[in-house]
Amino acid sequence: MDADSTMGQDRVMERFWTKVQKGPGCWLWTASTRNRYGQFWFDGRTQPAHRVAWQLTYGPIQDVASKGRMREQKKTHCPQGHPYAKANLIMRGNGDRRCRICANRVEQARRPRHRADRPRRRAQEI
Ligand SMILES: [Zn+2]
Repeated sequence: MDADSTMGQDRVMERFWTKVQKGPGCWLWTASTRNRYGQFWFDGRTQPAHRVAWQLTYGPIQDVASKGRMREQKKTHCPQGHPYAKANLIMRGNGDRRCRICANRVEQARRPRHRADRPRRRAQEI
């Protein structure tokens, strides 16, 4: 298990990419697979190959999510970046905060599309 920690990042990358056969449209995983995702031992556990590829390229996923600035943004903004300001903030009974813009978008997405495209149709039918 300690093989990874004694190996440098370059060795890990080398080990990883030897299992990837790069094709014109996609990368073919040539090592072990579980379901349809490639599996690779990385950072002390077996992980999906696409996750490892991301971490080798951009750094640990965990670090990005736990950065203080990201947490701060979650408190004052919804995941889409809308501010939790008074007019846009929906407080729920359990203390959860919801973004009104996103809530409206979800609501609109649930409605059949043709009704949104022709808003006056309904009135004419009545
Ligand atoms: Zn929002």
